[in-house]
Amino acid sequence: MQTVQTKVAVAYGDGIGPEIMNATLRILEAAGANLNTTPVQIGQQVYETGNTAGIAPDTWHILQETGVLLKAPVTTPQGGGYKSLNVTLRKSLSLFANVRPVRTYQPYIDSPVDNMDVVIIRENEEDLYAGIEHRQTTDVEQCLKLITRPGCERIIRYAFEYARVHGRNKVTCMSKDNIMKQTDGLFHQVFREIGAHYPEIEQEHQIIDIGTARLARFPERYDVVVLPNLYGDIISDVAAEIAGSVGLCGSANVGPNCAMFEAIHGSAPDIAGQDIANPSGLINAAVMMLQHLGQADTARKIHHAWLATIEAGIHTIDTYRAGSSLQKVGTQAFADAVIARLGSSPTQLSGLSEDQSVVSPILIPEYQRPSTRKQLLGVDLFIDWGGNSPKEIGDNLRDLAPSGLKLKMITNRGVKVYPAGQDETFCTDHWRCRFVAQDSLIHPIENIYMPIEASSIIALMDRLT
Ligand code: NAD
Repeated sequence: MQTVQTKVAVAYGDGIGPEIMNATLRILEAAGANLNTTPVQIGQQVYETGNTAGIAPDTWHILQETGVLLKAPVTTPQGGGYKSLNVTLRKSLSLFANVRPVRTYQPYIDSPVDNMDVVIIRENEEDLYAGIEHRQTTDVEQCLKLITRPGCERIIRYAFEYARVHGRNKVTCMSKDNIMKQTDGLFHQVFREIGAHYPEIEQEHQIIDIGTARLARFPERYDVVVLPNLYGDIISDVAAEIAGSVGLCGSANVGPNCAMFEAIHGSAPDIAGQDIANPSGLINAAVMMLQHLGQADTARKIHHAWLATIEAGIHTIDTYRAGSSLQKVGTQAFADAVIARLGSSPTQLSGLSEDQSVVSPILIPEYQRPSTRKQLLGVDLFIDWGGNSPKEIGDNLRDLAPSGLKLKMITNRGVKVYPAGQDETFCTDHWRCRFVAQDSLIHPIENIYMPIEASSIIALMDRLT
């Protein structure tokens, strides 16, 4: 009996997008995937209509209806005014978890390491990708890095649940909390808190720079890695290139109601239209999509045929190595080779087992905001001033403070320059001036001040004006 087909939105993307999407859809069809695909328009052609988001309003309805998007890469136009469509899709549809499995295929695909099998779980909505940027002064541009407690809780819980569901033993968190103590500090802190609920899973934290270096050198030490957005973006490309090619890896962008599946690479305009791109990243993304849709047998069938193709030495230009590869093929010929092997299994490389093909959905509990006591303890004013004497601006501001407030310090690019700065410090035209209560500290060691009144901030602004 024919079961009802699952509706899936399909975006052909830009650059190599249409080529690798055609190849992938042909494989899905030949494998008997039970899908009803609806094409949606996103990317360059939509940007060119003057739509700066790159996605037409109708497309949102289709995505909400299907809840699943198979997406080829899109080109983000350079320059101001255009938003990244990828970031918009991930944030608008609450696709908070970006799951990127990366593994080596030795000896068939050349790699400096032979034992990488990691799943990189990248936070997908926050961090510097919040896209909140300002021109502050003539000299200074600013990008706000937002890390939230609910965002940390759900991605870190997702990483532990992923490890549990997929039988993985260890979760490594990477951050730069030795420098960004508030933002990355929160990510690390939540990792400790959530990790306490998973005592059976080994867990560790590493600073991102040494963590990236070690992952590249000793990949066997890593299993599941969870990171804030930007670090996750960078480390997954590093890992994919080391494993053989950025063209090999697929990813799932998962949220409570929708999911989007795509290759990790971009639209590769340098090789577009030449039928040489590797479609494997999108093929692997489609396998993850089938698992998500509960079509485990078809997922396994495609994965096995794809591995059998790799084992047969049939490789696209990015993974072809004279000596180890047997045949250099183009995008469509590679898809034909996979189709010809549907029903075959790899002999050496491990494919999805029956157990692994069926994945239970990961449910994340709703966020409970903790109750907190808030007090107004001070204010930072950012002043655009073209002078270069910290003493001049500092003495002036000190004298201007209204009663109840005092100027505590001034920093420039994060370095204290008043009072008692160093003459050598280079200053821009961007001065952060911190005012706190005039009365003395309540707790000098922890730097806790007496509360101030909101009205004294208005009085300060008034005086400055
Ligand atoms: P890219 O990933 O498109 O290409 C980087 C390099 O890898 C290029 O040399 C390219 O030829 C090669 N490459 C990429 N995919 C390949 C494949 N499947 N087979 C063989 N070689 C492959 O990165 P880029 O050049 O920095 O970005 C190009 C465009 O893609 C930009 O507009 C960027 O914003 C966009 N982009 C989109 C996505 C997405 O849609 N998810 C992700 C990253 C970048």
